[in-house]
Amino acid sequence: CELIGERASLEINKMLAIEEERKRAAELEKIDKAKTVFFSNISHEFRTPLTLILNPLEELLHQPSGNLSAIERKNIETTHRNAVRLLKLVNTLLDFSRIESGRQQANYALTDLVALTRNLVANFRAVIEKAGMKLVIKTDTIVRPVYVDRHMWEKIVFNLLSNAFKYTLAGTITVELSAEDQYAVLKIMDTGVGIPEAELPHMFERFHRVQNVTGRTFEGTGIGLSLIKEFTLLHKGDIGVISELGKGSTFTVRIPLGKEHLPKQQITRVHQ
Ligand code: ADP
Repeated sequence: CELIGERASLEINKMLAIEEERKRAAELEKIDKAKTVFFSNISHEFRTPLTLILNPLEELLHQPSGNLSAIERKNIETTHRNAVRLLKLVNTLLDFSRIESGRQQANYALTDLVALTRNLVANFRAVIEKAGMKLVIKTDTIVRPVYVDRHMWEKIVFNLLSNAFKYTLAGTITVELSAEDQYAVLKIMDTGVGIPEAELPHMFERFHRVQNVTGRTFEGTGIGLSLIKEFTLLHKGDIGVISELGKGSTFTVRIPLGKEHLPKQQITRVHQ
């Protein structure tokens, strides 16, 4: 009889512990939601004044040459460049909070992925070549239709290329787009600092940053790769990396061809 009593009290303790754990999880979830809403609101609040800073700066920069002294122009250009950088960071935070709260709306549309990717990559050519590096782009014709969210694809290519540029001090950046099996495959290869093997499994985790392996500190937030991984997963695709320290890295994104795998209501008729 005593044994049964002991068992019952053990059971009760177990149930109480489970209930306590459930309450704690619910509390944590509430705090997490509040954090996401805060992130989202604050990012929105930052955007308006930033746009109001950028507009007059752009007007100033478009004045006929001669209206500004060389030093004035240089200072305005620096201010403008940094305001644009800040706006990009704020937009990344907005994307991030949308993903966190599950509010990221995707619009998949039939896309000429080769043309879109070539255009995006072309924006980088001047800055890469100015730094004394080479940019190579190879694209195959993709016969089966590709459906992507344009905004997300732009972010994927932009982030991977920015990283390839940021973490490469000399050599070549190669972009390849092809169709393999049932996927459109984007590969971005660099001859940069590389990533230590132990870090590779963590590369797409939120806020993860590799310690400055070369002794040089690279600025960043550790958001970019986790964000584009979420974008890739929304497309029912995948993303991966292989790398050798001191030799370079290759990031690969695969997006399924066709549209059968995508939610019907998120496919728009607009052809881009
Ligand atoms: P950020 O660049 O803002 O730190 P990311 O999420 O884009 O954030 O990248 C996370 C980390 O992955 C970076 O801090 C960097 O250490 C590493 N990384 C990303 N791309 C490369 C690359 N092409 N070569 C070497 N390291 C990279």
